[in-house]
Amino acid sequence: MFSLYIHIPFCVRKCLYCDFLSDAYSTELRAAYAEALNAEIKREAGFYRNRRVDTIFFGGGTPTLLTEEQLEELMETVWKNFDVAEDAEISMEMNPGTADWKKLVRMRQLGINRLSIGLQAAEDELLQKLGRIHTWKQFEEAYGMARAVGFRNINVDIMSALPGQKLADYEHTLQAVLSFEPEHISAYSLILEEGTPFYEQRESLALPEEEEERQMYDLTEKLLRAEGYHRYEISNYAKDGYECRHNLAYWRRTDYAGFGLGASSFISGVRFQNTRSMEQYLMGKRSKEQVEPLSREDAMEEFMFLGMRCMAGVSAEDFRQQFGTEMESVYGKVLTELEKQGLTAREGDRFFLTKRGIDVSNYVFAQFLL
Ligand code: SF4
Repeated sequence: MFSLYIHIPFCVRKCLYCDFLSDAYSTELRAAYAEALNAEIKREAGFYRNRRVDTIFFGGGTPTLLTEEQLEELMETVWKNFDVAEDAEISMEMNPGTADWKKLVRMRQLGINRLSIGLQAAEDELLQKLGRIHTWKQFEEAYGMARAVGFRNINVDIMSALPGQKLADYEHTLQAVLSFEPEHISAYSLILEEGTPFYEQRESLALPEEEEERQMYDLTEKLLRAEGYHRYEISNYAKDGYECRHNLAYWRRTDYAGFGLGASSFISGVRFQNTRSMEQYLMGKRSKEQVEPLSREDAMEEFMFLGMRCMAGVSAEDFRQQFGTEMESVYGKVLTELEKQGLTAREGDRFFLTKRGIDVSNYVFAQFLL
């Protein structure tokens, strides 16, 4: 399994809660970035010559802010320099405020077969509070266009625990999204990230109380299950066969190469990261600096808490293969204790979170720290 991540760090404007590596841009900067990105991919593809690419993810930022020509050149660079599997999952994120019929047609022609639309909420008032650039109506139009040009695998991102959001609002968002029948729904709760305007305003944001937040969380599972979505990761739901293969690769710690500003890569257990300085990136600074190597213990912890995020959990056999030792000998006591508390369960050689374990997943993950 091998994946590519390609980062486009541009947005029309910054949402108030967002700490992703993205910013407003000029036409010149976008062109220079596209050039540097193509150059980076060409320069580094040789390292992965023997790898077949199973998934590609264009994230950001807002990748759909690239022009049709820029997207075309980028996809050509990828096709020419990588051996991409015929059935590869090729995803692109899209902000509904940037949907464009011609561009969507082009994206389909270029082989992009999965679209991830960032909606967040169905109420315009909430969207405005978040600093989003689009309305609900724009989402409806964007979604309609995506279907009409042939996207058959669409994810919609939504958020709960938003400032001023009531349980009824959230239920309305869920129902409104469900009426479109996307193949996949990602439902995250708002996290106040340091350095964002929301973090600065945290005292005055009127966030839902813990109990209401819990109700939103429970409602997600209940409504989506009733509509035929299964939860395959703590915050991700899919119709059968539409789990995001790219994200599963992250959680299963398989190899991926990242391209673009600040993009990280994970190759044979070692993490690398590109520079986060646009100036240096454009100068073609050698990318993929190795970050602090993971110790064996760090890698085991990561295996456990990334794997446990998925409802399928972790396999003792995979652990043995990766670390040459038994999971029981490292985590036996912890797993027995968690099982006694009803937070994890086992089936065959797999360990996974129970419903109660999902509710207190942060506590469970903390138990795996060595
Ligand atoms: S559109 Fe997405 S990446 Fe851009 S600022 Fe908003 S949340 Fe962040």
